[in-house]
Amino acid sequence: MLTAQVPKTKEVQTSDCDVLIVGAGPAGYMAAAWLARHKGVKVRIVEKRDGKIFAGQADGLQCRTLEVLQSFGFADRAWKDANHMLEICFWNPDESGKGVVRTGRIPDMSPGLSRFQQIVLHQGWVEGYFKDNLKKYGGAQVEFSTMPESMEIDESKVDDNDAYPVKVVLRHLKEEASAPEQFGHEVLNGLFRSTNLVTTAEEDNALAEDTAKESTEIVNCKYVLGCDGAHSWVRRQLGFEMLGEHTDYVWGVLDIVPITDFPDIRNRCAIHSANSGSVMVIPREGALVRFYIQLSEVERDAEGRVNRAKITPEMILKACQKIMAPYTITYEEIQWFTAYQIGQRVVDDFSSHNRVFITGDAAHTHSPKAGQGMNTSMMDTYNLAWKVGAACQGILDRSALSTYGYERSAVAHDLINFDRKFAKLFSGKPATDAADEAGVSMEEFKKVFEKSHLFASGVSIDYKASNLIAKPAPETEDPHNPVKPAVVESKQSLATGIPVGQRFNSFQVMNQSDSRPWQFQDLMKSDSRWRVTVFAGDVRDAEQKARIEKLAAHLDKPDSFIHKYTPADRKRDGLFHVLTIHSAPRVEVELHDFPTALRPQHDYWSVYVDDMSHHEGHGHAYKNYGVDPKRGCLVISRPDQYVSLVCELEDTDLVEKFFAACLIPQKK
Ligand code: FAD
Repeated sequence: MLTAQVPKTKEVQTSDCDVLIVGAGPAGYMAAAWLARHKGVKVRIVEKRDGKIFAGQADGLQCRTLEVLQSFGFADRAWKDANHMLEICFWNPDESGKGVVRTGRIPDMSPGLSRFQQIVLHQGWVEGYFKDNLKKYGGAQVEFSTMPESMEIDESKVDDNDAYPVKVVLRHLKEEASAPEQFGHEVLNGLFRSTNLVTTAEEDNALAEDTAKESTEIVNCKYVLGCDGAHSWVRRQLGFEMLGEHTDYVWGVLDIVPITDFPDIRNRCAIHSANSGSVMVIPREGALVRFYIQLSEVERDAEGRVNRAKITPEMILKACQKIMAPYTITYEEIQWFTAYQIGQRVVDDFSSHNRVFITGDAAHTHSPKAGQGMNTSMMDTYNLAWKVGAACQGILDRSALSTYGYERSAVAHDLINFDRKFAKLFSGKPATDAADEAGVSMEEFKKVFEKSHLFASGVSIDYKASNLIAKPAPETEDPHNPVKPAVVESKQSLATGIPVGQRFNSFQVMNQSDSRPWQFQDLMKSDSRWRVTVFAGDVRDAEQKARIEKLAAHLDKPDSFIHKYTPADRKRDGLFHVLTIHSAPRVEVELHDFPTALRPQHDYWSVYVDDMSHHEGHGHAYKNYGVDPKRGCLVISRPDQYVSLVCELEDTDLVEKFFAACLIPQKK
């Protein structure tokens, strides 16, 4: 048992809930939106704040995040509203050492990584899109001014899929208790919420007072998701610890409409001065620009902690002016400011009994300049929530929930390693010459920046073997790895451009019925279905056609995975979405040449072709996916678009084995 301080008041209301999400930041909103796509799953999301949209905070959306937002149907809104980050300029000390000069420009993201590029707009907008999406799909609405005050896990019930083993007492706060204070500044600021400067002890104490309380209730939950940020209450209840270090570097952030003669103000810039520190310039939506400014002259207490009350926008601007000299900078308007100290830490465990999970900033903190926090937080719950949703529905075996911590802790550790390198190079002093070993080589900085694109974009994430990813386990596998091993092995050589464990990349294909070109990934919506992608090859060939018919006959069998695991109250394609891409010329094939298992009645959106479109060119999908255009192959991908299995069209036994290891047969 964990903490057991449930108040014994008779009038306390009690209810059941499948999933309780604590915290409505990017991680919490993503979890709620994803769970909204899981029919019948009862979800609540609570947020201790009063709901007012704040300015500032995160602003970068990476390529992979945009692909995911697209799968929810609203990347286009972000794409239109945001500023696009296309070029990065490097500024370094000039010869005199007294000013800075432009020393290079590169594309901000390496071309070809994704059909999206990095964009920036403030976190409040992103949360706003999620709110609209939740309304559209009847998802849980955020219950503001509400927070947990105690949590117990009944360990005797954790293995029972139908049990509600986590008891949470929720406290509804008085409105005045849940409004964030602004540390006495008139300008909106993030000092109350910034990642590392603040301890939440005083805030927690204030909210624990009875005077802050309106009422309490008891909620019995199947699952609790701790999406409650860097100072996570949920994490502290579990006794989990953040492991890692705090650096000494302190950074200020200004969101301003600048008045300046600096020529690259509408490009992302990394500016290193000789002796005054560094600045990163991030041009934002409209005329707004964000500056990350290294602060060398800040007041600290005896333990080295920064006195946040002493941080003002004026002092941050002064530091910026020194670094950017000889260029001048001041502002017409300031929207937000904050300051933070970089802490690079990862939680020691991502879940308790696969019932309570730690996600987002609650699980990892790092510097914000690489634009990863909001993205990684959303991607954590994008990884987790479909698994929890399907477990609640009795479809996914609970053993598969272990893959969350396994997959995402690896990402968190990679992120910290990346951030350490990046933050050190960015915060360090430029080398004066080749012999200056303590200084940062600007050439190395540029190289690391270029290399970092693949990681920062989020598209290179590669989940390891498990009962959800059919590939060989790494030789250096951790003996304490809690996940069930892969029971089958993919035949990766059949699709060299669709790496198992990575997200299904996107190339253009064309609809067989109406010739409309589509990005293939756009057909894989986040709707909780698994994808069965049939690369049908050249179906003009009789032998190849026979292979397709044999596969279709298997899919039609009442005991095939499609029928075995799809709940009776769902349509035939309720859990598995079969998509076909063939490689014959479109005009030499008809939709009706394909068996009905691949194109149910009235479904004109399941069969595609790799061919030249009338208006938008050729996607060369087979070539890009590395699939033989004559023989094709079969690809199984998870509801979150990560590739599970690649095999031959006739390897239905492998597919059956794969699903038997992770899904639960349904009653008919
Ligand atoms: P949060 O956004 O912190 O959300 C947690 C939520 O939980 C909050 O709303 C909080 O009020 C609520 N909460 C906390 N405790 C409780 C409780 N007990 N009960 C109920 N609710 C609770 N990231 C990027 O990707 N790109 C960037 O460019 C970037 N820039 C940043 C700039 C700054 C100045 C800062 C401070 C951060 C930046 N980040 C950036 C990081 C980013 O803001 C965070 O990584 C991201 O917000 C984390 O999302 P989250 O949902 O995990 O946590």
